[in-house]
Amino acid sequence: MLDKESGVRYVKTFPAGKKSARHRIPSPFGEVFADRFGTCLLSFLGPTSRRCTGAIVMDKRHPSGTILDIFGKNTFNRGAMREKLPKTVFESLLGTIERGEPIDPDIVPAVAHGMKEWAMERGATHYCHWFQPMTGSTAEKHDAFLAFDSEQNPMERFSGSQLIQGEPDASSFPSGGMRTTFEARGYTAWDPSSPAFIMEGPHGATLCIPSIFLSYHGGPLDKKTPLLRSVEALSKAAVRMLRLLGRETSRVVPQAGCEQEYFLVDGKLYERRPDLMVAGRTLLGAAPPKGQQMEDHYFGSIPPRILHFMQDAERELYKLGVPAKTRHNEVAPHQFELAPIYEDVNLAADHNQLVMEFLKKVAARHGLALLLHEKPFAGINGSGKHNNWSLTDAEGNNLFEPGSTPHENLQFLIFLVAALKAVSKRAALLRCSIASAGNDLRLGANEAPPAIISVFLGEQLSAILDHLESGQPNGETARESIDLGISKIPLISRDNTDRNRTSPFAFTGNKFEFRAVPSSMSISIPHTVLATAMAEALDEMSGKLEKALENTENRDHAILSLLRAEIAATRKIRFEGDNYSDQWLQEAERRGLPNLPDTPRAMKLWIDGSTKELFQRYGVFDETDLHSRYQIKLEQYVKQIEIEAALVVDLVEQDILGACFEQQSRTAQSIAHLAVVTESPHLAVQKEYLDRYSRLLSDLITKVGHLKRLRDEIREEPDLEKKGSRTSTDLLGAMEEVRKTADALELQTDSKRWPLPSYLELLFQH
Ligand code: ADP
Ligand code: MG
Repeated sequence: MLDKESGVRYVKTFPAGKKSARHRIPSPFGEVFADRFGTCLLSFLGPTSRRCTGAIVMDKRHPSGTILDIFGKNTFNRGAMREKLPKTVFESLLGTIERGEPIDPDIVPAVAHGMKEWAMERGATHYCHWFQPMTGSTAEKHDAFLAFDSEQNPMERFSGSQLIQGEPDASSFPSGGMRTTFEARGYTAWDPSSPAFIMEGPHGATLCIPSIFLSYHGGPLDKKTPLLRSVEALSKAAVRMLRLLGRETSRVVPQAGCEQEYFLVDGKLYERRPDLMVAGRTLLGAAPPKGQQMEDHYFGSIPPRILHFMQDAERELYKLGVPAKTRHNEVAPHQFELAPIYEDVNLAADHNQLVMEFLKKVAARHGLALLLHEKPFAGINGSGKHNNWSLTDAEGNNLFEPGSTPHENLQFLIFLVAALKAVSKRAALLRCSIASAGNDLRLGANEAPPAIISVFLGEQLSAILDHLESGQPNGETARESIDLGISKIPLISRDNTDRNRTSPFAFTGNKFEFRAVPSSMSISIPHTVLATAMAEALDEMSGKLEKALENTENRDHAILSLLRAEIAATRKIRFEGDNYSDQWLQEAERRGLPNLPDTPRAMKLWIDGSTKELFQRYGVFDETDLHSRYQIKLEQYVKQIEIEAALVVDLVEQDILGACFEQQSRTAQSIAHLAVVTESPHLAVQKEYLDRYSRLLSDLITKVGHLKRLRDEIREEPDLEKKGSRTSTDLLGAMEEVRKTADALELQTDSKRWPLPSYLELLFQH
């Protein structure tokens, strides 16, 4: 794809480690390679890892290409580290970043010093530990590079201990009872595996240090800590399995590429919609005559104003080393997507936070409001964050990539089936990991995957698993199959054509795509669950294989038997059909698959005995952590909907009723005037019309009264679980009732008099 404006051509990513380029060109921003076509390949990994990701490719035939000029410019990446750190310090730090070795405390002061020098050259006066508390976003507390020497002269200073550890006052972050107020302190700790970066501001810059956030007892108060722990657990389990399969590697790291969907609306209209501003979604609003029926928006040409915004946002992201790659229109009007090139999951999670933050910030600069909510508009597609997920070993091999030899394919099938097992066993927990008030409105509605988790594999792979399970030789369905003598593993050709857009968890060629993840949520918790579930599945399979290998010399045979048993056991999670259909609901129920339609019901899984056992076994969360997170999540859910209910009441009572009374009064006056001059039979028709309008207006008054009473009643409910459940059913139901009537009135009221911008204006005005 050629971006004409920047002159940058994006070419397919290539797995690192297999650098196809020929000539190495020194450059200030990392290693640049040029191939025989004069194309530059920028290894943008920064200080993350050799293995992961791929490359952004700039075609020299379009010399105005600017990505190379700015990519990673504001990150303390490998190039910056090499320049600013003594060689031994640099190498020791690389060991931590690339191989997960513990950090050598002796190098920390030198790293801090180098980082400070680098940051100050870029205008930074302050630093902060940048972390992800249990609320939706990121948090930072800034400190100046300022200290005094023994003679009280001011000096710029950033010590090793300041780099390693910070102490924000944690008392205002949600902790769900994990910290009592008298010990309200928590501390942040540097995560060296995600590069520090500069956040530019209009009047100076800040050095941001990605960090974890812990209570003084070591309990995680954030989203990064559990993710890192789960990734470690998965790595161990995967290395163990690979060893059994005859392959040695030191580490396995999940890779994530998350496609970020969002809506844009005009800033001026946005400011006239308190519901969008406060709740992020429209709580009222009649469907427009043209919705997305025509589906003419998807992949359509990007409007110039939007393109300008996207280019601006991408530039900001490139500076931070975020490999933003794809941009396009989405299905709904005013809906768009940004997809980066995949990276180590920890880095991908940090980068996704930056993506969300910068999209919003830059949109505001362009007079646009960016909506990350999962369902900003009723009756129109919601937004999700498809999470593409794979596993790579230390040598850069993707374990979900079908191989070219039977043994490679045996390994591929083991990991594929382990993923089936993980999703099958922990389907409800995965559903729970993506639960939010916003996602409840999206799941199962307009083009979104349902709340029932199932896996789509595609025709070819399904046929191969079926044949393996039944023990029969491969039939015609596998495109190419050969009898290998040593085993019955067919050659598996990568098949990208087979797509099922309705599946919440689909295999797409060499990765899985977890599609049920909400657009506004951090990807950390879903990936924590996924990694832990995968560790469990692999460990169970390794245990069985180890036992089997005690009794047989024939490893291939033992592996095939294991596969056969696991394929049979996970059959129920596989579904190739239409996930949107009613038949699937019934079929899923017959299969005993969990269907948890709302957050309060899904969240119960979080404190379920089996969940506790799983997370404790892998050292990800202990019981207290799980309970506190459960409480925080439910409280947030209830609060969010309480706010929405209050907004509905205000909008109706303060704006809509007035407009409707005015409309009614004018209509009544008009009919009265008509009655003076005529006894026309039209009078009866018009009176009837007025009567219908008045009835709607009375209905609205009654319904909003009911909503208020209900809201007050639920607010008094002392039991959080009951409160959650009443909120998800009664309160949302009452809000929906008000909406129905208000929307009917909107369609019958003079549009000039209606106090809120309509869907038509919000969605079709460029
Ligand atoms: P789609 O057709 O769904 O847009 P793409 O192939 O364009 O699929 O990929 C979308 C996302 O998947 C991108 O973020 C991309 O980097 C990511 N991705 C591609 N390969 C992998 C992989 N092996 N592991 C994880 N993510 C991947
Ligand atoms: Mg995709």
